[in-house]
Amino acid sequence: MHISHLSTRDALGSLHSSSGGLSSTEAQRRKAEFGANRIEKIRGEALWRQLAREFVHFFALVLWLAAGMAFFADYQAPGEGMATLGWAIIGVILINGVFSFWQAYRAERAMAALTRLLPQQVTVLRDGHARRLDAEQLVPGDVVLVQEGDSVPADCRVIEADGLRVSLATVTGESLARSRSADACDEADVLAAANVLLAGTAVVAGHGRALVFATGMRTEFGKIARLTQAGHEGHSPLQLEIIRLSRQLALLSVAIGAAFFLIGHLLGLPFWGNLLFAIGIIVANIPEGLLPSVTLALAMATQRMARHHALIRHLPAVEALGAATVICTDKTGTLTVNRMTVRQLWVAGEALDLPLPAELLERCRPLLDVARHCHSLREVSEGTRLSVLGDPMEVALVELGRQARDDAGHATRVHEFPFDTARRRMSTVHDLAEGRLLYCKGAPEVLLPLCSQVLTREGVQPLDETQRERLRQAQEEMAARGLRVLALAWRRVDGEALRIELESELIHAGLVGIEDPPRPEVAEAMRRCHGAGIQVIMLTGDHPVTACAIAREIGLLRGETPRVISGHELHHLSESQLQFALDAPEVLFARVTADQKLLVVEALQRKGQVVAVTGDGVNDAPALKRADIGIAMGIGGTDVAREAADMVLLDDNFASIVKAVEEGRAVYANIRKFLTYILSSNIPELVPYLAFVLLPIPLPLTIIQILAVDLGTDMLPALALGAERADPQVMQRPPRPRGERLLSWPLLARAYLFLGVCEALAAMSLFFLVLAWGGWDYGTPLARLDPLYLQATGACLAAIVVMQVANVLACRSPSESLLTTGVRGNRLGGNPLLLWGIACELLLIGAIIYTPWGQTLFGTAALPAAAWLAMLPFAAALLLLEELRKCWVRRQARAAANAAPTAD
Ligand code: ADP
Ligand code: MG
Repeated sequence: MHISHLSTRDALGSLHSSSGGLSSTEAQRRKAEFGANRIEKIRGEALWRQLAREFVHFFALVLWLAAGMAFFADYQAPGEGMATLGWAIIGVILINGVFSFWQAYRAERAMAALTRLLPQQVTVLRDGHARRLDAEQLVPGDVVLVQEGDSVPADCRVIEADGLRVSLATVTGESLARSRSADACDEADVLAAANVLLAGTAVVAGHGRALVFATGMRTEFGKIARLTQAGHEGHSPLQLEIIRLSRQLALLSVAIGAAFFLIGHLLGLPFWGNLLFAIGIIVANIPEGLLPSVTLALAMATQRMARHHALIRHLPAVEALGAATVICTDKTGTLTVNRMTVRQLWVAGEALDLPLPAELLERCRPLLDVARHCHSLREVSEGTRLSVLGDPMEVALVELGRQARDDAGHATRVHEFPFDTARRRMSTVHDLAEGRLLYCKGAPEVLLPLCSQVLTREGVQPLDETQRERLRQAQEEMAARGLRVLALAWRRVDGEALRIELESELIHAGLVGIEDPPRPEVAEAMRRCHGAGIQVIMLTGDHPVTACAIAREIGLLRGETPRVISGHELHHLSESQLQFALDAPEVLFARVTADQKLLVVEALQRKGQVVAVTGDGVNDAPALKRADIGIAMGIGGTDVAREAADMVLLDDNFASIVKAVEEGRAVYANIRKFLTYILSSNIPELVPYLAFVLLPIPLPLTIIQILAVDLGTDMLPALALGAERADPQVMQRPPRPRGERLLSWPLLARAYLFLGVCEALAAMSLFFLVLAWGGWDYGTPLARLDPLYLQATGACLAAIVVMQVANVLACRSPSESLLTTGVRGNRLGGNPLLLWGIACELLLIGAIIYTPWGQTLFGTAALPAAAWLAMLPFAAALLLLEELRKCWVRRQARAAANAAPTAD
């Protein structure tokens, strides 16, 4: 019989378990038998197939075709070195394929490593105690405690339920929440059984206990996973742009190749040689490696972000972060430390500071009793340590309540009306020696209308309007100090049914003012946001006065008249009114519920903003999904929020978001850096051929030499530029406009018309210089293997490489002087990859010019030292010109910045 048909007792019996769970030794034994509770990753594609794919995609096929033509040309006209070219092209395909594969593999590994950083935790009964364990440790027969916000860790049979509701969206796609109970049912379909919790579904309300009956791949989710895992994430917008860009550049290179072929043909060059040059041009300019380089740059950024406690779940979030214009953030726990201390009480018309003198304890007793009992904390053992799980505010209140009396007779909890952000209160019902009592706590303005009496020095009295007014004032005063204020109340419950209507006719026991200091690093992070042109909007369930006090303390609010929008007002604003309200320079939302976040996010997005939003609860999930970057809390958050988010903050800290934004901006800047670098060298590769066609000179740079640059010497430095650390400057500029293209006109102009031209000049000059030294007369043809010719082309190639070394230094920043980038924070030392890249680049060119195999393969000959010396002025000139250009750019930027305030 299926487990859903059994009574809870029989269900437990069928798995040889009990309501107190398993013993740890038994659990260990079962783990050996049933394995870890995890969904095994089925490789979407075998590694060798991924590798093979690198050799048959569109670009690779073009290259294969080119190689085939080269061999055919060699067959037609042997002895012109065409076969060597064919082999070189095959070499290109191989090097490129393996390199691309390696990059993609590393990127994938980096992402996989991230998911391991945040294992799912569950509360499970072992040896009769509740423990927090990794979900992987679960075995059939375990009894787990589940509550709102948890993701169900395995297939379970409910054995105790209290308002338990689950969302099956992840398994059935159905979004309506279903209620779950412990009763046996005779539903045949496990998906529909009302007493079964399926792994991967989400608990959206209530709490309960459940018996695990299937783990890992044996769960329903595991079975689906087998079918669906093959599909993988789509490309991010940036990756798509790169793909588009690669195609465009490929087309462009084909066009240039065709044009050169035509020119050569018109000039009457021999057919095969001419054709091969055209092929070479195409090969040299196809940007095969762009996509994997970009993917790797993004993946490396996620690793750097992880070091700053920001865990990326989806790659596109990296770039979205870099473009973020607004951060909507929670207050409690994100801006504050979430370490709560009770600072002040307000009891019987009097403000009392803590610690309480002993003689006042008696007067405060009702308040202390509520504080002590009205909570939803759980005790669990972590290893050998007993710890309390739940809201730190409640921990502080329970501590406060314990001062009252240790003798407190047993208060058996019989019921709980749980807290939610819309009710802003909670109650618990207890059986005590003196009878049944309801304890209630919540936001003061919520509780006040529910109270009919109040505790005074003269005992409990009816609550009149003057007393209400005094309570309101007391709340305001505490809130103005930045304290979070809570009202506490109680009442007798005489044999009545446990219904929510019991939260009325309460006796007001007083107010509690709780301090939750801002995180120390938040003020600085806030300043960085201001500098970076990112608006920060606080959304809190707390009182407006408290919210403003905290916001001022951290520098979030600086103006005199911030626009404070309450949840109530938000409810009545129309879409367009809300958009207008958001135009205010400083906006703050207070007393809003979690589901109102979505409204704010949507309104901001309608205004064209790129929105990051934080959240931790079940009700935050829609906003997290909708936002451009949904950010969940790693410590305080629920599984549901984490699964809806693009990024998880391992330390719940606002400052980590700002760090991640910085990395997001840096990676974008880095991609542009290496694009500039890679594109620059195309010009000195094209100009020699142009010169060869137009002037009576030998070819200054052969196709194989072009390949040596594009696929040899350029590769590592480009990779290093992709891994540059964030420039401190990136957070002093406004966010990049949403529609900004990666390859802008200024970037192209700088690469092609400026850097490229400098390099071409150097390359051509060296070619002629070496020829002149060798006594060459203008116009004399040289044989392909003439030592002077070999030397001259070698010099041309070497000049390009030396210029690229200067270029990679220039490309470290589009606007900052090399002196700054090199000196400040020792940034050159800060990127060892760059030094390695340059070292490899020089080693390679050394090998090409000076080793016998290098000379044969690439058609070069050893160069005199004078040739190398002659390159240096060119390199210095490139750097100098770059400095002048950067200086000009900085001046423009300063002028623009100075002009901005007046334009406002
Ligand atoms: P925040 O944005 O500060 O996290 P919440 O939405 O969690 O705010 O809480 C909103 C208000 O609800 C709080 O200001 C407080 O008055 C009340 N509140 C919060 N937690 C509890 C709780 N556990 N019990 C009763 N009331 C609570
Ligand atoms: Mg909260």
